[in-house]
Amino acid sequence: MDIINISNLTFRYGKKFIYDNFNLTIEKGSFVTIAGPNGSGKTTLVKLLSGLLKSYNDIKVFDKPLTRKNLNEIRKEVGFVFDVPDNFFACETVEEELAFSLENMAVQPSTIKKKINEISRLLKLDVYLKRNPMELSGGEKQKLALACALMLEPRILVLDESLMMIDINEKNEILKILKDYNQRKRVTIIYLTHDLNESLYSDRLVVLNEGKIILDGKVPFIFEEEAVMRKIGLEVPFIV
Ligand code: ADP
Repeated sequence: MDIINISNLTFRYGKKFIYDNFNLTIEKGSFVTIAGPNGSGKTTLVKLLSGLLKSYNDIKVFDKPLTRKNLNEIRKEVGFVFDVPDNFFACETVEEELAFSLENMAVQPSTIKKKINEISRLLKLDVYLKRNPMELSGGEKQKLALACALMLEPRILVLDESLMMIDINEKNEILKILKDYNQRKRVTIIYLTHDLNESLYSDRLVVLNEGKIILDGKVPFIFEEEAVMRKIGLEVPFIV
């Protein structure tokens, strides 16, 4: 079953078309990497999916068109993790930051505490719970942003270059954790990056260039198309 269905999407900034008759479907429960060089349209796609940029009836999430009327309901079940700006966090401690959204939804304190324990351990943030988010390193802030998204148990998790500041070994650890999370909880993960190394844990790789899909297939078999990836400046992972 498709959880996201984009059909004939057209979007432009001013006169410049970024997407022109773009089609993409994402299967429920899959872990998909969308990779492309800078300027290929990844962030624009995420903004369209989140409703930050307006599209019309060409995007369906959970079979519902992404209209203003449906947007709030859809957003409750889709977690977006963007590159973390410095003013992203609002609370004094990591623990409060993790609790923030659930407290606003009046979730029981004991349930919140249990979830904080689970998620902070999963991402090895448990040692930082009493720290001020602003004092964390860039990579730790990115882990916290991911943890905040997981606290809400989204059905779809969209990550836009959101592990960029985390060092390579730890990034691989987190990708493995995400893979496990995807399989255990059947959460659909859409991971956007310019780095093909980060696609190794996903089931499917979609390669985007100038708003068009130039490759789409199963990992690792898709890496046979090395020449196409090289042509647009994407380096195939060494391990492949
Ligand atoms: P990526 O995330 O893959 O780097 P983007 O979606 O950010 O790609 O950008 C796709 C194209 O749209 C680029 O050519 C970029 O210059 C252009 N673009 C992005 N944001 C804007 C904007 N707000 N106004 C005009 N052009 C934009």
